[in-house]
Amino acid sequence: MIVGGVAAGMTAASRARRQDPDAQVVVFERGEWISYGACGLPYVLGGAVKDFDALVARTPAQMRARGVGIRLGHEVTGIDATAATVTVHERASGRTLTEPYDRLLLATGVAALRPDWAQSDLSGVHLLREIPDGQAIEATLKGARRACVVGAGYIGIEMAEALRARGLSVVLMEKAPEVAGRMLDPDYQRLVRAELERRGVDVRCNTDVVRLTGRDGRVTGVQTEHGLVRADVVIVAVGVRPRTELAGGAGVRLGKSGAVAVNARQETSVPGIFSAGDNTECIHRVTRRKVHIPLALSANRMGRIAGVNMAGGDARFPGVVGTGIFKVFELGAARTGLTQTDADSLGLDAVSVDVKSTDHAGYYRGAQPIHVRLTGERGSGRLLGAQLVGCGDSVKRVDVVAALLHRRASVLDLFEADLAYAPPFSGVWDVLLVAADRLS
Ligand code: FAD
Repeated sequence: MIVGGVAAGMTAASRARRQDPDAQVVVFERGEWISYGACGLPYVLGGAVKDFDALVARTPAQMRARGVGIRLGHEVTGIDATAATVTVHERASGRTLTEPYDRLLLATGVAALRPDWAQSDLSGVHLLREIPDGQAIEATLKGARRACVVGAGYIGIEMAEALRARGLSVVLMEKAPEVAGRMLDPDYQRLVRAELERRGVDVRCNTDVVRLTGRDGRVTGVQTEHGLVRADVVIVAVGVRPRTELAGGAGVRLGKSGAVAVNARQETSVPGIFSAGDNTECIHRVTRRKVHIPLALSANRMGRIAGVNMAGGDARFPGVVGTGIFKVFELGAARTGLTQTDADSLGLDAVSVDVKSTDHAGYYRGAQPIHVRLTGERGSGRLLGAQLVGCGDSVKRVDVVAALLHRRASVLDLFEADLAYAPPFSGVWDVLLVAADRLS
């Protein structure tokens, strides 16, 4: 039995059936959508993706044809771990059902935070987590001219771009001193901010919201400590929290991060109950600490591991290295491992070098700037992390560093790597190699 039908839940369902074709697999999903890429929501709203249906990987009919029972509009409200049953609220009938399980997977994801000032009935105020949120934003955009996005993490930044693409004026508000908070070091944050400003986003950092203003039931603005920002639509993107109510109610142990604690087989502290995806913490291979980093690849991967193990196999989650990437207009920003700020806060003796170069040979047409910061450990020479800001896909070379971090490689290992070269793709000494040379 699987609770939650998106990335972790549906991957687990498919994997469990593949592991044991006779396994009976049922998924309870409280919403009406399953198996879709929430990551694409800002791009539907910005117009780069045709519609919300395009985000769906597998429909309920396709999953049922694969032998997976799909129960939409069914919210699991409680777990009795001793009896091995769950209680389920069936929205259509209003009935409460009791359903038995042999193995149970919690794949309930995260909930977007709604601060006190956003607890309002005003229309035009939106969180963005699921397809229905995206549909509600789409409906609000008709006739809207001014948007305020509160929270300049990667989702807020992607939404600022989407709303500019729709022709709205956009104010992006952030409580912290810079945008892209924990992802990047401050000078790399400033590169992202400069791109936002260059594309007409009014970025206001060090700005906290006091309350929303409205008229006739509709939002009209955001009151901050520094004044009023008028807005027809407000997107609240101030962070997430793991959905752990069910786990907590069943006596499942939560980790220090606040997410569900599991072992490498995705087993929780309660026998028979597994957990996977955004609601679950995992091991960071660089720091060896438990972390909560809710991203799509690890959600899918945890789901895959859980599915195999629930159906009698033996698979283990290898951990993450904190890799992330996002687009901001013409630029990409990426990071993996630790930033210098992360390393300092962990008390590591870390040092970073910066290289500014071009994404491919300077003499080949269209060369664009790329900034790389590489971080390593003094003494041991261990590679700790990288940050890249540059045009388009050029920052995807972060994956080279991510792969090496998985093997606990050194800065020298990166320098010695035989990377591909031709003038349209990189310099003969790729910017990563130049950075590794300077750091080693
Ligand atoms: P979710 O996708 O949150 O799914 C959990 C499901 O469980 C939900 O459908 C929910 O309705 C259901 N559920 C919860 N409780 C119950 C219950 N009690 N009973 C029944 N059902 C329940 N990640 C990236 O790596 N890269 C990106 O570029 C990126 N962009 C993103 C952009 C946006 C706007 C958003 C919102 C997310 C983005 N993500 C991105 C994150 C990525 O979407 C998530 O990591 C991924 O969806 C997590 O999958 P999940 O299955 O763990 O949880």
